[in-house]
Amino acid sequence: MRLQILGSAGAEFPGFNPPAFLIDDQLLLDAGTIGAVLNEEEQWKIRDIFVTHSHLDHIRSIPALADNIIMKNLKHTVKVHSTHEVITALRDHLFNGIIWPDFTSLPNEEDPVISYAIIEPYKKYVLKGYTVDAIPVNHTVPAVGYRVKSGGKTIVYTGDTGPTEEIWKYCSGADALIVEVSFPNNMENLAQITKHLTSSMLVDELGKITSLPKRILITHPKPQYYDIIRREIECLGIDGIELLHDGSVYEI
Ligand SMILES: [Zn+2]
Ligand SMILES: [Zn+2]
Repeated sequence: MRLQILGSAGAEFPGFNPPAFLIDDQLLLDAGTIGAVLNEEEQWKIRDIFVTHSHLDHIRSIPALADNIIMKNLKHTVKVHSTHEVITALRDHLFNGIIWPDFTSLPNEEDPVISYAIIEPYKKYVLKGYTVDAIPVNHTVPAVGYRVKSGGKTIVYTGDTGPTEEIWKYCSGADALIVEVSFPNNMENLAQITKHLTSSMLVDELGKITSLPKRILITHPKPQYYDIIRREIECLGIDGIELLHDGSVYEI
């Protein structure tokens, strides 16, 4: 799998965009960043978006993508996959005809720009050669992480999470784990309240994995503390661990 980091920050500053991970040009994990970095042709290739949770930094580029698609008025539907809670939030609070148009009925109900696909946690979904599982994690709103398998390779993405349990059972021996560290160690109190991780909290979490993934790619750092978090991650001395930056591409 070709993994392209469109955004990997826990906030927004020049050069630091919210999370979005593009697999093989077509399958997107979270949608914090699309149009800011992909040209029209590249945006066109995205057909499936898997959303971890309803927080704005993980969904905010879907409205602009929908707007770009409808401009061409072709029969082109992007499927947004997530849990019932997240889809309900998108329907009620984003594509509600007030904040943004309801693109599930535009330009018409037969060929809408956006369609929703509800995912049940722990159930396997097969699409276009990928097997995808959603696993609940521990955040301030209902949230899942995803395991994506294709061609004998496995990528696991936690989304935003504080200390959690279930998803680590799906990580053992994975080729890549994308996991969040939002705060430096001296802000652990805030990490606990907001259900995120620090580097030292991550160590406890990784201890729950039987066989560590080959790559451990850290996402969602607060840009104001990027250098401190990078140093704290380096100090862990764990093989294959690195802090992501936007624009990187990995062959997994
Ligand atoms: Zn969040
Ligand atoms: Zn977030």
